[in-house]
Amino acid sequence: MRLMASRGRPKPKPVPRSGAYRGTTGTGFYNFQGRDALGMYIENPAAYMSTKSLGFATGGGADAAASTLAGQVISYSDDFVSIHDKYPKASVHCLLLPRNPAVYKEHPVVLLSRRDAKGAAFLESVRAEAEKLRAVVAAELRRRFGQFSAADATREAILRGDMEISGGQLPVGRDWSKDVIVGVHARPSMSHVHVHVFSRDMHSDKMRHRKHYNSFSTPFLVRLDEFPLALDDPRQPYAGGAQGGVLTMSEETANDADDNASESADDSEVKGAQDMGQGKRRHLDYLENDLKCWRCGKTFGNRFQELKRHLQSEFEAWIRE
Ligand SMILES: [Zn+2]
Ligand SMILES: [Zn+2]
Repeated sequence: MRLMASRGRPKPKPVPRSGAYRGTTGTGFYNFQGRDALGMYIENPAAYMSTKSLGFATGGGADAAASTLAGQVISYSDDFVSIHDKYPKASVHCLLLPRNPAVYKEHPVVLLSRRDAKGAAFLESVRAEAEKLRAVVAAELRRRFGQFSAADATREAILRGDMEISGGQLPVGRDWSKDVIVGVHARPSMSHVHVHVFSRDMHSDKMRHRKHYNSFSTPFLVRLDEFPLALDDPRQPYAGGAQGGVLTMSEETANDADDNASESADDSEVKGAQDMGQGKRRHLDYLENDLKCWRCGKTFGNRFQELKRHLQSEFEAWIRE
């Protein structure tokens, strides 16, 4: 299934640069830095494939596992690549990247809100892939934290050989997938369409300021099941705009082209949001929201360090559920 560009958006021009990676599409030289950094996984996923069989490290603590996995490809097909976010903002944080050049630089909110047949089919294909990745994330959560979980206790004991299986069936245990969130940012600055698939704990040393937190825990993150989004939803690039109202990536991120390859997707996204023109600012107020615990709803104003300490204890309680 291929969704063809239907709005006349020009294809992104390759930028010749010495030492740049040569794409495999034969269209020339690419520079996969800054907001284009996700392109390297799309163009050449095999080069970033994990050396571990399932894309997950074994052994080591959660932090060790997370750093080992950063930027690794989990799986890929002709149409999609799944990777570990290089700068995870949660204990497990993956990205799903469509590989079709006809759409991969569209604004994700516009792309996933299309109501024509091709658009609907594309959304369905993204949903199906995202559900696969959700299952992968859930399995990784169980692998890392199942040993601490009350709901997984019997199952874990059986797997360890500490307990006899009864009724010939391993208990299903905890449904980790219900704690996996799937969505796109309303104002991404990474130029390739990417869907975040992550555990809701927001427990990561890469989660370093209020905007990081709010970009994943407020409606700034448009959940995949909200699509197609109403045209007048304030998170549309042009809320209530005409059919032709498409925000181009260059307009959106013109102020964000700092070409900093070390920036994470979400650092860039936050910058892009901050640099938006006044006319678009009202859509981005989510990032300025008071901090609010995802688990108990307690608010922390802008006291980020206090929230971080609280999230640590919530994380420990959450894995024990
Ligand atoms: Zn993003
Ligand atoms: Zn709480």
